[in-house]
Amino acid sequence: MRFDERDIMFARINYKPNTEIYKDYYTKNPEKKDIDDFLRSLPGFMVKEAFSFDPLNSGLINGTYNFLNDLKQNSKGEVSKEKYPVDKEIITDRVKSIAKYYGADLVGITEMKDEFYYSHRGRKQKNYGKKITNKDKYGIVFAVELEKEMINRAPRLGQSLETSKGYVKAGIIGMILSYYIRELGSNARNHMDGNYLLMAPFTAEAAGLGEIGRMGILITKKYGPRVRLGVVTTDLELNTNKKVSFGLKEFCKICNKCAENCPSKAIDQGEPGLLNKTKRWKTEVEKCFKVWQMSGTDCGICISSCPFSQNLDLSKIERMKDNPEVIKEVLREYNKKYKKRPYNESIDEWM
Ligand code: SF4
Ligand code: SF4
Repeated sequence: MRFDERDIMFARINYKPNTEIYKDYYTKNPEKKDIDDFLRSLPGFMVKEAFSFDPLNSGLINGTYNFLNDLKQNSKGEVSKEKYPVDKEIITDRVKSIAKYYGADLVGITEMKDEFYYSHRGRKQKNYGKKITNKDKYGIVFAVELEKEMINRAPRLGQSLETSKGYVKAGIIGMILSYYIRELGSNARNHMDGNYLLMAPFTAEAAGLGEIGRMGILITKKYGPRVRLGVVTTDLELNTNKKVSFGLKEFCKICNKCAENCPSKAIDQGEPGLLNKTKRWKTEVEKCFKVWQMSGTDCGICISSCPFSQNLDLSKIERMKDNPEVIKEVLREYNKKYKKRPYNESIDEWM
C-alpha cells in the first residue's frame, strides 16, 4: 500500500476553508475536518502570535524555509543528450564520495520500491491530487548530522534553526548530485524539504542508513534521529546497500524515552502494530502538530530525548543486540546523566 501525501499534516494544514481543495478533501475524509479546523485556528509555525516568536531568530528560520522553497523549484532538470559510458562500481563510489564531499555524513543506495513513493501529491495547491508516476530505479539516500547541542535546546528556536539548516544542507547535496547525474546523461530528481515524492525514512531504512523506531522516524546508529534526510532518485545504474539491523526495535521496547517525554503523548507507548505488513509504532500526528501550532516551533523533544541522539558508545550498540542487560545498562547511564532528558538551557551568544 502507498501513502497519499494529501493525508500528511503538512498538506492538510494548508487546505483553506471555502476552496475546492478543502471541499474535496473533507468530503472524502469527513472524520478529519474538525480536528484540522481546530489545528488551523492555532497560531502556527514561526508566526508572531506564537509564544516562541522572536523577530530576529524566527526571521532567520522563516528566511531559510523561503530559500528552500526557491531551491526546490530546481529539483528536476534537463538530462544531457550525450550519455557517458560509466562503470557501475566507479560511479557508485563517486556518487557517494561527492555526497560526502558536499557535507553528507551517511550515504546509502537502494533499489526503489513502489511503496516508498506517495500515491498522490498534496502539499502544493497546484499539485494537489496529481498521481505520482515518477519511478526511477534507484534512490541515493544521504543524512546530514544535526548539531547535538542545538537539538538539545528543543523545543526552543535553536532546535528549529538547526533543523532548517539540516534541510538546507540536504537540499544542496541533492541538487549537486542530481545536476551531476543529469550531466552524465541519466535522469535524476532531488527530493528535498517540501518536495519529496517519497517517504524518505522508509527509503533510508532500505538503503541501510538506520532503522525506524518507536517515534516513527529514522534512527541511525551513530547520530540517532538527529539527522535530516535527502534522496536523489535516478535511472543511473548503481550498486545498492543492504538493510541494517542493530537491534533498535528491542531497544525501543525497553526505552520509551521519546514517548515519556512527548508533551502531547502523541507517540505510541505500547507494542508495535502492523503497518504495511511491517510491525511499526504509530504516532498520532494531530497531537504532535497541536504542539507545533501552539508553540510556533517544531518541538523536537522526542529527537533530543532519544539515547541514540546523545552519541552512544558504538561498541555497546554492537553488544546490546538481543541482550536486554546491555540495553538496561545504557538506559541506567542515560538516567544518571540526564535525569528525564537532555536539555541545553543556554542560548548561543550570537543568537
Ligand atoms: S515533536 Fe514534540 S510533540 Fe511531536 S512527537 Fe516529538 S515530542 Fe511529541
Ligand atoms: S527514544 Fe528510545 S524508544 Fe524512542 S525511538 Fe529512541 S530508542 Fe526508541
